[in-house]
Amino acid sequence: MKAMTSTEFEQNLQRLAEVAVHSGLGLAPGQELVITATLDAVPLARCITKYAYKAGACLVTTLFTDEDSSLLRFRHGSDASFDAAPSWLYEGMAQAYRSGAARLAIAGNNPSLLSREDPDKVSRVNRATSRAYRPALELIVRHEINWTIVACATPAWAKCVFPDLPQDEAMARLWSAIFAASRADQPDPVTAWKEHDAKLHARADYLNEKRYAGLHFRGPGTDLRVGLADDHLWLGGGTTAHNGRYCIPNMPTEEVFTTPHKDRVEGRVTSTKPLSYQGTLIEGISVRFEAGRIVDAGASRGSEVLQKMIETDEGARQLGEVALVPHSSPIAASGLLFMNTLFDENAACHIALGQAYSTCLKDGDSLTPDQLAARGANTSLIHVDWMIGSNKIDVDGITATGESSPLIRAGEWA
Ligand code: ZN
Ligand code: ZN
Repeated sequence: MKAMTSTEFEQNLQRLAEVAVHSGLGLAPGQELVITATLDAVPLARCITKYAYKAGACLVTTLFTDEDSSLLRFRHGSDASFDAAPSWLYEGMAQAYRSGAARLAIAGNNPSLLSREDPDKVSRVNRATSRAYRPALELIVRHEINWTIVACATPAWAKCVFPDLPQDEAMARLWSAIFAASRADQPDPVTAWKEHDAKLHARADYLNEKRYAGLHFRGPGTDLRVGLADDHLWLGGGTTAHNGRYCIPNMPTEEVFTTPHKDRVEGRVTSTKPLSYQGTLIEGISVRFEAGRIVDAGASRGSEVLQKMIETDEGARQLGEVALVPHSSPIAASGLLFMNTLFDENAACHIALGQAYSTCLKDGDSLTPDQLAARGANTSLIHVDWMIGSNKIDVDGITATGESSPLIRAGEWA
């Protein structure tokens, strides 16, 4: 591939920041913005801050974290440390969102940061963090505010994606892939996103018209029937948040997705890509569902972490999301395994264990937890996407009367 010159790189970085603020976030003039990033993402965070102020932000606050410092807890922390989480920080974030702040997360974490740590400690930390973060996360998931996630290449991430390349080359390759997937390498990324967004909406509209009762996935190691929640809604691309701002929550995004019925999932499913779950790679996942619950789970690698994950709580062994992505998606076409859900979930059809999106149900935001559960929406502290799609996967839509029609054949829309 052709190497990027430093001018091209700088131009792409500016475009990524611009498209993140304008197409992704839809920042309103006068709005406050909270950014989260790791220290490796300082250059992109600064660039985004510049475009946010140019778009009229009244205040941009970036919360930087340092991954090496996070590791020090595992090396030197007392036992009680693994159940601790900075609730005060997450409460502060929730308060910012309640008073109207937008949220932008810069993803670029080291996928294998915690791979050598004790899975029990990792799981305790994850549980404590999920609990403390929940109030803030709920505001985000319910789209009370406009938010988005964009990616930044970091040395540790680049090393995981391109283990055999020298550091510089690995970083350049990862940046190229990020710019391409985020459409920041196109002359007018804002228009490119508008067109792409319209296509995703058209696909979701088609599925919403069909009102399928379920989906049937078939492929190597997979024969899975996923019932859809009553009054489910397919979503894809951007959405208007409750504060009236239009945002595209994930950059990149190639999926249309909805809420499965937590008690109507049957059969076996095998993962088609490794799952990077909070620092550990889980490969070759194969699980069997009965009446919606995983009754048998295994993995060729990281199976202990998988077990811990599905034991997080009651809802962790049930589905909260099902998503369709064609195999020809630009991210799948790149042939790369990013080991980051933001990218890998947009390369293949996927399912998620755990929390469902109430926005994927008609009037979902106004329903009580009991009403959501009655429609089939799952509840959990976790929401973990993993890939079940490939060019060998067929998907049928199943109507309420049991007729099936082809949706995806050999990985492509039929
Ligand atoms: Zn998804
Ligand atoms: Zn998901």
